[in-house]
Amino acid sequence: MKVLIVGSGGREHAIAWSVAKSPKVDKIYCAPGNAGISEYAECVPIGAMEFEKLADFAGEHDVDLTIIGMDDPLVGGVVDVFEARGLKVFGPRKNAAILEGSKAFSKDLMKKYGIPTAGYENFDDPQKALEYLHTQAKFPIVLKADGLALGKGVLICNTLEEAEAGVKEIMEDKKFGSAGNTMVIEEFMTGREVSVLSFVDGKTIRTMTSAQDHKRAMDGDKGLNTGGMGTFSPSPFYTEEVDEFCKKHIYQATVDAMAAEGRPFVGIIFFGLMLTAEGPKVLEYNARFGDPEAQVVLPRMKNDIIEVMEACVNGTLDQVELEFEDNAAVCVVLASEGYPVKYEKGIPMYGFENFKDKDGYYCFHAGTKFQDEQIVTNGGRVLGITAKGKTLKEARKNAYAATEWIQFANKYMRHDIGKAIDEA
Ligand code: AMP
Repeated sequence: MKVLIVGSGGREHAIAWSVAKSPKVDKIYCAPGNAGISEYAECVPIGAMEFEKLADFAGEHDVDLTIIGMDDPLVGGVVDVFEARGLKVFGPRKNAAILEGSKAFSKDLMKKYGIPTAGYENFDDPQKALEYLHTQAKFPIVLKADGLALGKGVLICNTLEEAEAGVKEIMEDKKFGSAGNTMVIEEFMTGREVSVLSFVDGKTIRTMTSAQDHKRAMDGDKGLNTGGMGTFSPSPFYTEEVDEFCKKHIYQATVDAMAAEGRPFVGIIFFGLMLTAEGPKVLEYNARFGDPEAQVVLPRMKNDIIEVMEACVNGTLDQVELEFEDNAAVCVVLASEGYPVKYEKGIPMYGFENFKDKDGYYCFHAGTKFQDEQIVTNGGRVLGITAKGKTLKEARKNAYAATEWIQFANKYMRHDIGKAIDEA
């Protein structure tokens, strides 16, 4: 088979690594890819939002399956463009990717179908949003821009004044662009956060092992929100009891709700869950693998990813059981000092050879590129260093040891990824 992967982050590197293991695959392309992905794939200079060019490429190169890693092209309808040309593609159509593309849509869906989530109201008029805030007694309160905002469109407001300023930022100043034309105002929840990713074929869902992200830039969950500074899998807080509850009330219910709405979902549903005192509730849905959740979940998956993805596209996922190794993985993101605000790029990096032939250690590239045959930094999040271990503690020790194998001048990382494990 020939496979095309669309994207250029650590997630797409983990997907490419996983696809490369499949005996069914003899050629991988990645658009646009990065320096690490080029180890497995021929990188082609087509942007993820150039739908027609991507479909032209897939057609001209007899690509058997295209895998879309990123949210923007999915929400923009790349899958519809491929399908209109009869090309096989893994990911939700535009009318299903709205599950991630519109938080107002996903909240209304959950309400309609009784899927547990925080109480909320949707607004497209800032005046009405402000009036509503004045009727609210409980703070903090959460404001969410409706559309995609690089994971940054969520404001947790501790006071009425902060919330008023937030409405202005999102709806009037358009800090997140048109993503803020509509806004969700949501009840604040407390509890542990867990991510569960799943494969879906429109009717059947198969969940993967759990993971937990660390979104803030600095140790102790301080600093600004980022795309994610590290992950671990499995989450010790995702107990059998939690799994049972989610299976009963959340996972299949979401897939059935989308089908009932005439929006059958094919691809990955990422469930962002909050384990509250009242039970698990949905924080958010994503319509693709998480980054860096993919970097800890995929190395633990025993299945051939291509077989699972083909089953999703063909509607035969009921014949597949997912299997995961009985171990743990931790991913520590190496970022450029200054991320997520201002940072330098183009800095030479060394030490990649240390990962050669080391079982259970992975160096997933996110923001890297080749410059005169030298790998240099090319983004805020630069690498995801993943290691496996028999236990989470061992995996964390291994991952942090491996972060030392790579050197670059403005290397930055959090030192407490997976610290929550100690409290489990
Ligand atoms: P989201 O993109 O909706 O997952 O929001 C990003 C982050 O904001 C989540 O991972 C949570 O840490 C936080 N968050 C979102 N919604 C809530 C909520 N209702 N209560 C508490 N924290 C929230």
